[in-house]
Amino acid sequence: MEDGMHYEGNCIRPPSEAYSILLQVTLGCSHNKCTFCGTYTDKRFTIKDDKTILSDILFASKYMKRQDRIFLMDGDALIIPQKRLMWILDRIREHLPWIKRVGAYANAKGIKMKSAEELKALRENGLSILYMGVETGDDDLLKKIRKGSTAQKLIDMGRKVREAGIKLSVTVILGIAGNDPELSRRHTRATGEVLSAMDPNYVGALTVMLIPGTPLYDEYKRGEFRLLNERETLVELREMIAHTNLSRGMFFSNHASNYLPIKARLPKGKDAALAQIDSALAGDIELRPEWSRAL
Ligand code: SF4
Repeated sequence: MEDGMHYEGNCIRPPSEAYSILLQVTLGCSHNKCTFCGTYTDKRFTIKDDKTILSDILFASKYMKRQDRIFLMDGDALIIPQKRLMWILDRIREHLPWIKRVGAYANAKGIKMKSAEELKALRENGLSILYMGVETGDDDLLKKIRKGSTAQKLIDMGRKVREAGIKLSVTVILGIAGNDPELSRRHTRATGEVLSAMDPNYVGALTVMLIPGTPLYDEYKRGEFRLLNERETLVELREMIAHTNLSRGMFFSNHASNYLPIKARLPKGKDAALAQIDSALAGDIELRPEWSRAL
C-alpha cells in the first residue's frame, strides 16, 4: 500500500482529466489497430488484477484526498466485464467517498458489449463520463484508419451512452483524410453529421500527428498520405463546426495539437466560432507555431 500507484508504460488521459486521480485498471487498448495511434503499441491488452487495483485505490484514499475526480486508464476500461467493473466502482465508493466523477475511455465494441441496463447500473455506481474516439464520420475513411466501426455504429453507441445518463465526450481528427480536397470535404461533412446525430456533451477536435511506428506514419513516408497545411486545417475545422448541430454541447479545438484554440458552446456560440476561424483565415489572428504543437 505504501509503494505508490502501479503505473505501467505509456499512460494517457484526456486533457479534461488533468487533475484527476489516474487509476490504471487495464493495460493498453483491446482494439489497438487504428492506423494513426501509437499510444499503446508497447502493451498487450490486459485487465490488471484486483489486488493491484485495490492497492492503488487504498493508496489514493490516503494521499489523494483533494482530488474529487478519478479517471480509469488505459485505452478502453469499459471493456472490463460488468461484474469486475462494478466491483472497481464499489471499491472507489467505499474508499474514496469524496469522488464526484468517474471517467473512462470507451470504444464502440466496449459499449456494444454492455446492455442498456448495465450502462445504467454503472452510471448509478458512479461512472459519469465516457470518452470515445469518433475520428471521422466517413465510412470509407473509418475503414481505412481501421477504427473497427461504421458511422452508424458510432452514432448508435454514442446515443446508448447518453440514454444511460452518462456524459459523452468524443474526439474527431482534423487532417485524417489527407490533403485531397474532395476527401477532406467528405470527412468534415460526414463527421458533422455523425456528431449531430450522436449529440455528445463535448467534442474535441485534434489535428493529426504522425507517430513513428504507426501504419499512418509509414503511409506518409511512402508518399501515400499528405498532411494539411495550417490553412487547410482551419478550413476543415470551419466546415466541421458548420455541419455540427448539438442540442447543447461544447466544441473544443484547444488540444495542444491544434493551430487555433476554439471553445464554442453550441448551438449558441456557433456563429462566433465560425467568425473567429474566418478572422484566422484572413490572417487577423496569430496561429500556434508548428514547433509548439504536441500530442
Ligand atoms: S481505439 Fe483508441 S486507443 Fe485503441 S488503437 Fe484506436 S485510437 Fe488507439
